[in-house]
Amino acid sequence: MIRRDFLRRVLYSGTALAATGAAARAITPRIGQDATPVLDLFKVDPLNLTDVNLTGTDPPGTQSLPTFTAIPFRLEDVRILDPDLLRMREQTLDYLLALDSDRLLHNFRVNAKLPSSAEPLYNRESPTNGWRGHYVGHFLSACSQMYASTGDVRLKAKAGAMVSELAKCQAQLGDMGYLSAFPESGFDDLEQGRPAAVLWYALHKIMAGLLDVHEHMQNPQALQVLEGMAAWTDWRTGRLPEEQMQRTLQIEFGGMNEVLANLSAVTTNPRYLVVAKRFDHHAVLDPAAQGRDTLTTLHANTQIPKFIGAAREFELTGNPRYRDAAQFFWQQVALHRSYVTGGNSASEHFRTPPDVLASELTDLSQETCNTYNMLKLTRQLFTWRAEPQYADYYERAFLNHILATPNPADGSPLYYLGMQPGQWKVHFVPHEGFFCCCGTGLENFSKLSEGFYFHNEHSLWVNLFFASEVNWREKGVILRQETRFPEEAGTRLLMQTKSPARFTLNVRIPYWAEGASVTLNGKPFEPEQKLEPSSYAKIDRTWKNGDRVDVKLPMRLHLQPIPDDPTLAAIMYGPLVLAGELGTENLDPKRIYSDDKFLHGGFPAIPVPELAGDRNALDKWIQTVSAPVDKAVGQKAVSQKNAALTFRTVNAGRPQDVTLRPFNRVFNQRYCVYWKFRPAVEA
Ligand SMILES: [Zn+2]
Repeated sequence: MIRRDFLRRVLYSGTALAATGAAARAITPRIGQDATPVLDLFKVDPLNLTDVNLTGTDPPGTQSLPTFTAIPFRLEDVRILDPDLLRMREQTLDYLLALDSDRLLHNFRVNAKLPSSAEPLYNRESPTNGWRGHYVGHFLSACSQMYASTGDVRLKAKAGAMVSELAKCQAQLGDMGYLSAFPESGFDDLEQGRPAAVLWYALHKIMAGLLDVHEHMQNPQALQVLEGMAAWTDWRTGRLPEEQMQRTLQIEFGGMNEVLANLSAVTTNPRYLVVAKRFDHHAVLDPAAQGRDTLTTLHANTQIPKFIGAAREFELTGNPRYRDAAQFFWQQVALHRSYVTGGNSASEHFRTPPDVLASELTDLSQETCNTYNMLKLTRQLFTWRAEPQYADYYERAFLNHILATPNPADGSPLYYLGMQPGQWKVHFVPHEGFFCCCGTGLENFSKLSEGFYFHNEHSLWVNLFFASEVNWREKGVILRQETRFPEEAGTRLLMQTKSPARFTLNVRIPYWAEGASVTLNGKPFEPEQKLEPSSYAKIDRTWKNGDRVDVKLPMRLHLQPIPDDPTLAAIMYGPLVLAGELGTENLDPKRIYSDDKFLHGGFPAIPVPELAGDRNALDKWIQTVSAPVDKAVGQKAVSQKNAALTFRTVNAGRPQDVTLRPFNRVFNQRYCVYWKFRPAVEA
């Protein structure tokens, strides 16, 4: 409970909020008053935008709010049927259940001077690490999303108990709402420009976790603890002149603007949007809003959440500067600073100018958190206008980075997805990795379906091709997707509905699919416009129970050269990045697990073959080793699947030919994604 002296300090401290009277609303305890809290993050209308000047120098209340073209289905409404995704989710679920809550809470209790006899965790959750506490936030988010995806009540109980314990720590830490695993004095250092840890970063994860528990588990205590933290954040940041606040933003602060904007939408309280805006890092956002790329040399994952927050602030304020910044940033990173996998960064930084990547094929390429965050931003930008370029990128990064990370043996995530030819995937030792990518790694596999389907009042979008079912409650329609994609080059969509329903079905035609075709109940569907790659097949009709749409998406081999060196190129098959299997020479397979994100070296490099095939005729020298499997039944299908989508070069490898498989299926050995091409040899 927040006491009256705090209320007085907020009201008379000269913050923007003091003038609005919004502070009084925010500290009103919500428990018991709001039996059905607003849970829809996309609900923007109720904010009273005339209360405060939300857009800096812009006149208040003069900008209209944007509307969404397509919003994602809730995790609860999508049922995954794909066996590989189910395995990954199951491994993560088991891990969430196995994590020891007392160990996770240890640093919070120590900081609050509450007793704890638990054994401390390791690396970034060790008792002296500046990141401590962040993993608990990811844990809460992952439990919430996993609960929404599976309905497993054990997660609800576990996350709920943890929120109760965090509430005790918060109460013990005073009456300001502060909650963290480290002392508040660290913020003095941060504000005074002294060396400081990534304090806001850790707090952002905890706040986002609490919001997720509230949203997915309808836990009012989570919202109460979160509002306490937000009130403290308001007090802490409201005291600082803007220039000083901006200086603190030079230290990584996660998505503080995003979580506060989301809280504002959930509670319909504009106060939190004012606080969110204090975390707008102008040195980075302003150039992007003007279409200037100033990212070179910057730490990559520090920047992405700032733009996720900006996108959310656009949705809640209508200020086009936020929109322009988020869209420009996405374009630069997704289209000009990413590898063929959709991942970005080398040694965690944007080290080179746009479209310069040939020098960036290192063992420390592609921090996995970055792709987690880029997918979040991409999903958000897709909702605005449902543009296919966002869905194309989403598929690229989801299939070729996220799904390429968990070791099939145990689901263990990884930090970097190295692009150095001859590199191997280095996974965390289960139960010993508590780095950022372990936290986002938990989340990735607890919300697997969130990019699959979108909708609005009269349209449904199918963006990804995985065996699954979506329940469109408002329309009384269940759409079932039956496919063995990517083993199968297409999908079929089956309608289940008690009564006919009129809507437009938008089926994505990916950037890689030339010659796509659609049949409706067995008859060719003739679209108004040709089904070009990177578009949608739009079928507007009254759908009946049993209606069936078959989609053929021809896959072919294609090359993606690195932008600044035409002799360096990756080979793709349809949506899949193929990697060469290079074996375990000079590599102890047991040592591909590490408890340190930097332990990627230690084994001598090996020579990697170069390719001398004709780059314009890949079919001539890359042959299928086994044809795609036609019938999936039982155990036989599993072994067939492991062999499917396997290719081999023929008389083109120098000094020897190589076997190519989807990068997301190559584990426990060396690989190569970008090949050095020699001039083609005439036959
Ligand atoms: Zn990370």
